[in-house]
Amino acid sequence: MKKMIRTSIKNLLIILLAFAGIIVLFSSFYSPAPQEKNITLNELAADINAGTVQRIVVQGDTIHVTFTDNSLGTTQKESDASLSDTLHNYNVDQTKLIKIPLEIQDNSGFQFWAGILFPTLIPLIIIGLFFWFTLRQARSGASAAFNFGKSNVKLFTPFKDRITFADVAGLSEAKQELMEVVDFLRNPKKYLDVGAQIPRGVLLLGQPGTGKTLLARAVAGEAQVPFFHISASEFVEMFVGVGASRTRDAFMTAKKAAPAILFIDEIDAIGRERGAGLGGGHDEREQTLNQILVEMDGFEKEAQVIVLAATNRPDILDPALLRPGRFDRRVVMDLPDINDREAILKIHSRNKVLEKTVDLRPIAVRTPGFSGADLANLMNEAAILAATKGKKIIDQEDLYQSIEKVLLGPERRSRVLNQKEKEITAYHEAGHALIAASLEDADPVHKVSIIARGQAGGYTLKLPAEDRYLRTRKQFLADLAVTFGGYTTEEMVFKDLSTGASNDLSVASEIARRMVTKYGMSKFGPITFGKTQELIFLGKEISNERNYSDVVAAEIDKEVEGIIQKAYALAKSVLTKNRKALDAIAHELMEKETIEKESFDALIEKFKIIPQAIV
Ligand code: ADP
Ligand code: MG
Ligand code: ZN
Repeated sequence: MKKMIRTSIKNLLIILLAFAGIIVLFSSFYSPAPQEKNITLNELAADINAGTVQRIVVQGDTIHVTFTDNSLGTTQKESDASLSDTLHNYNVDQTKLIKIPLEIQDNSGFQFWAGILFPTLIPLIIIGLFFWFTLRQARSGASAAFNFGKSNVKLFTPFKDRITFADVAGLSEAKQELMEVVDFLRNPKKYLDVGAQIPRGVLLLGQPGTGKTLLARAVAGEAQVPFFHISASEFVEMFVGVGASRTRDAFMTAKKAAPAILFIDEIDAIGRERGAGLGGGHDEREQTLNQILVEMDGFEKEAQVIVLAATNRPDILDPALLRPGRFDRRVVMDLPDINDREAILKIHSRNKVLEKTVDLRPIAVRTPGFSGADLANLMNEAAILAATKGKKIIDQEDLYQSIEKVLLGPERRSRVLNQKEKEITAYHEAGHALIAASLEDADPVHKVSIIARGQAGGYTLKLPAEDRYLRTRKQFLADLAVTFGGYTTEEMVFKDLSTGASNDLSVASEIARRMVTKYGMSKFGPITFGKTQELIFLGKEISNERNYSDVVAAEIDKEVEGIIQKAYALAKSVLTKNRKALDAIAHELMEKETIEKESFDALIEKFKIIPQAIV
């Protein structure tokens, strides 16, 4: 805001300066020559005869006279008569007149026209300038309203902050695939000679933060061919038809520079399935998409332009985009595994000061499910944390603390609980933690806390012992029991329930329903219910269509309820059996507010809890 005010003040100053300049220019044409005194023709004739006139300039009907003493005079003659005729009528001595230098200036001279035009032009110029400045402001501001049609395609200059594959950890398959594409561009002959077709489009798919944009930039750094990039959301503007013309422009720019790479980031912004009606589904997007299809088809066989695109919503992309000849190559970018996580952490610690003893491996171990962006963020949070503590070096503890910050949001120590609330929260979390520690199939507890974080009032941090790609029925049941741990404890200890468990309950219901309708983990056996459009690797449903009868619907509900009751009973039995341990954890929490893994394990140890298996 401040910056905006400053720029508009600057612009105002420029306008005022321009104004002043114009006025100066203008007045130079208009200010009468200095001390020109008006004389009559009689006087002029007399002066000539007296020999006191040095020079005469005729400008139209105006006569400017310079006297021998360098003073100036002016007079008018009749329009039609020439000066010599006029003076002759006034009995001027011809011999004297001939000796005086006489200059006739054409009326069509610059000065004359300027004199006429300037008064009319100046308002126009001022108005023009005014518009120019407002336009400039509008353009640099939010709306590029007057710049539509231009693609905004940017040439990526690899020399400035050059990123190479060395800056991208893991993702070896993606790198491999892209290296091949780059090689196509560098040595097209090699491929064309054996009859291979140059690929048209490569689509990078992956969850947000998996490094799609980063990898594309690395390709630019490696490619040694011009690399143009544009974000698809820039295509979609408020004016209909703009997107299409921008697309055309972007492709044209790339084709001119061929061999080249054109990178369209976040292509889902325009590549949505046509007619899907999601997100307002307006025509503009369709036109832009169509234009992309047309452009990609329009490449001649040997056109050396490769289109790279990135999206985290492949499910909603129009099938036409994915067909051969368009984005026929797809590179899936998975969340990093443990080794990749360590490598990513290493990359992002390059410009940070870490204590020599810092080990990144345990950090990688504790961060399953983190994306590259999360890990980069974690590293940065650790640096911030160290700086806040007034340290110059980041240590292991800073890193551990940052994991939770990234995972759960910042601590909210300011949220003060009264004694009763503190007790309820402590027992609630102790319930979760105890059940997690008592079941074989549950993830181990890493930390329990009653300090509010993000949305949660308290939290129990459980982390899988290793990276997991599959989940089993027993794990789900264990998860459910752990999730009910808070609710069940409150009920058991206080004979009352609080709103603190509401999120737990909705998570649990969702898991149970999926077990029945999606994973075949119920009496129905191997069958799924409901036709869902699912974001496979985001694990989210975007729509759910019922394809079963009301009778089945009722049975599904009964099955879901059965699973929930089973998990609830399990939670209850574990808690009743280990009531002493529950009290111990809760009291420790009330006293210390946070229990780390080591202390938690030591605490549990005393009660000789043997983790039980789920049947
Ligand atoms: P996306 O485009 O997939 O949403 P980005 O490419 O913008 O994700 O990644 C965000 C940030 O995360 C990058 O700037 C980088 O700092 C970090 N990052 C993600 N993946 C990696 C990786 N494999 N190696 C190194 N850094 C990564
Ligand atoms: Mg991106
Ligand atoms: Zn809870």
